[in-house]
Amino acid sequence: MTAEFRIALAGNPNSGKTTLFNALTGSRQHVGNYPGVTVEKKEGVYRLEHTKINIVDLPGTYSLTAYSEEEVVARDFLIFEKPQVIVNIIDAANLERNLYLTTQFFELGIPVVIALNMIDAARDRGIEIKEDRLAEYLGVPVVPIIARTGFGTQKLMEETVRQAAKKKEWNPKPISYGEDIDSTLLDLEEKITSGNFLTDTYPGRWVAIKYLENDQQIIDRGRKENAVLSAVLEKEVEAVARHLRETMETYPEAMVADHRYGYIKGILQRGVISHKYDKDRLYTSDRIDKVLTNRFLGPLFMGLVLFALYTFTFNYSELPVAWLESLFGQLALMADHLLPDGQLKSLVVSGIIDGVGGVLGFVPLIMFMFFGIAILEDTGYLARVAFMLDRIFRIFGLNGSSVMAYILSGGIAGGCAVPGVMATRTLRSPKERMATLLTAPFMNCGAKLPVLALFIGAFFSENKAQYMFFFTILSWTVALVLAKLLRVTVLKGESTPFVLELPPYRFPTLKGLFIHTWEKTWQYIKKAGTVILGISIIIWAMMTYPGLPAKDKENFTQQRQEVEVAYPAMIVAGSNMTISQEEAAERSRLLAAIDRAESGMALRHSVAGRIGIALESVSFLAGFDWRTNIALIGGVAAKEVILSTLGTAYSLGGDNQEESGSLAKTLGADPGWNPVKALSVLLFISYYAPCFVTVICISREAGSWKWGAFSMIFNTVFAFLLATLVFQIGSLFC
Ligand code: GDP
Ligand code: MG
Repeated sequence: MTAEFRIALAGNPNSGKTTLFNALTGSRQHVGNYPGVTVEKKEGVYRLEHTKINIVDLPGTYSLTAYSEEEVVARDFLIFEKPQVIVNIIDAANLERNLYLTTQFFELGIPVVIALNMIDAARDRGIEIKEDRLAEYLGVPVVPIIARTGFGTQKLMEETVRQAAKKKEWNPKPISYGEDIDSTLLDLEEKITSGNFLTDTYPGRWVAIKYLENDQQIIDRGRKENAVLSAVLEKEVEAVARHLRETMETYPEAMVADHRYGYIKGILQRGVISHKYDKDRLYTSDRIDKVLTNRFLGPLFMGLVLFALYTFTFNYSELPVAWLESLFGQLALMADHLLPDGQLKSLVVSGIIDGVGGVLGFVPLIMFMFFGIAILEDTGYLARVAFMLDRIFRIFGLNGSSVMAYILSGGIAGGCAVPGVMATRTLRSPKERMATLLTAPFMNCGAKLPVLALFIGAFFSENKAQYMFFFTILSWTVALVLAKLLRVTVLKGESTPFVLELPPYRFPTLKGLFIHTWEKTWQYIKKAGTVILGISIIIWAMMTYPGLPAKDKENFTQQRQEVEVAYPAMIVAGSNMTISQEEAAERSRLLAAIDRAESGMALRHSVAGRIGIALESVSFLAGFDWRTNIALIGGVAAKEVILSTLGTAYSLGGDNQEESGSLAKTLGADPGWNPVKALSVLLFISYYAPCFVTVICISREAGSWKWGAFSMIFNTVFAFLLATLVFQIGSLFC
């Protein structure tokens, strides 16, 4: 039996390509030119037992961009001639620079075998490379060779034949290029694949990357294929380019290159390479990393940074939050005076102002948090956090790329599970990916953050930052433990090695920080003004209708009349009937009490009220009263709704409320609330069913609505058990 394969030999100039090619093919080689260009094309044959291997020596290049003729020839050959395997020859003494080309083969998805050449020269310079680790992290075979002596070349060819025989489909490996570019890429790729744009020839994501890199050859081909779609893509690239220029003072090609090097750094940092002699040349970023990702100093520094972030956010945002709260209080008072009594007033004051105002009041807090996170992100520190946490994550059956998904979901506080769930696309193993996307919603997203802040402010106000820190650590712990649980049960399977990008440190620009902060804050405000407003109104209606039966209404009217008779309001001229100041006060106190009793009863009678009361028969176990139940149900639509609904519930039917104040004050003063109940509610809110949008996103990413349903049920049951446990035990002591 004979087999025949075609492979390409590729590598940087001076990596030893010609030496290897000659060693392999001896005299059986053919030298010509690539069609149409003057670049030399060498072809030869290597025989391994019954296998014939046709080898093409590609021109030496550092990259596969379209900057030089050699680069274009190399990549056109790969795309149009489709060799079964690339043997990527790498100079072991210049691993980092040589691997840059490798990342681009990965992006194409073509099967690669790495020939780690010149290990003799590297050893002489004190460089030792652990090829098994390198192979593990890169996910491709690595064979050490010395081309000049022929050492390892036979093994290299055996491995190459083994890979070629697998006849693998091209499988592009996505590398992350940072949030801005990644989201654009996803978008472009979607348009490219759905428009079947050049996809007969190239992988969709690759075309998207080339558009981003402003690759003239591909753009020309694109314009010829579909000028309209090409223009759309170009426009989108322009937009992200402008954005990068404004926020980071950089451009897409530079970002892409940075992250490719970051990917390589991420690998080399993992004990792949050891220098026997101390290297004199360490770049600044590497030097900083020596300290900041140090096994002992790194985590310590990370803890300090996070704690500083919480202190900054919670202590400095206190005042502006209070200002906004009083502003909305004033607004409610004004509306109360201006509008005639009735449904409209109730809608405006209780539904809109108390509801949406409760959410908007936290804008300063959100803004401070986002500003802090923007600093961590723009400097490149966030990538180091993920890098350091990788070791811990692997214990729990996850993978370092899960860290980024957690952080995007609000792992530090104030993200969103939707991009978090989407970010799991970079995870290679489907089981790790599922475990990550199912647990990412446990993080404290930007919508839960104000809810946490409210309860912490009302019941644990002495140590806000410490509590917030505690809740954050707890969320990670819960997510990791549950991920482990999933990984040993429904999602059982091996862990895969992974690579995280370590892009170089940058000085953030003030302008960039402000833009990033504002973008995210604006999203929060926009959501409050649209989605949350709509849901608030619906929930207000559910809490208002059908209203009290006529009989009860009459009853209250009668009570009011009795008070008015007992304490006549006006001093009737010429008569002796006057009321003292105390009597006047008593009168208004009684009237207000009747008002509250009436609206309280109406709320109990409303659709939402009845649902909330019905649920009390179970929820009492965790200490939730019916008003809280209403808010929690609303929270499934969007977590901000918990705040707005509590605001509305307490302003509609606050039967213990003496004077109107902020919701935090109201809850803090309510005898129905205590720290144990608050803690139980907080835990439930942290971990119960994700909001609708997230559930939809989970279903889509997991490929089945069953996983969406699973996350709703699993999370709610878990959260309820946890809340019940805490409430029952806590109640024993308090
Ligand atoms: P190309 O530009 O990639 O074709 O590289 P060449 O094959 O021309 O090799 C560049 C230089 O590296 C030459 O001087 C080779 O002799 C040398 N070289 C190639 N392979 C090895 C090796 O395994 N060990 C050592 N020490 N030198 C090598
Ligand atoms: Mg050569």
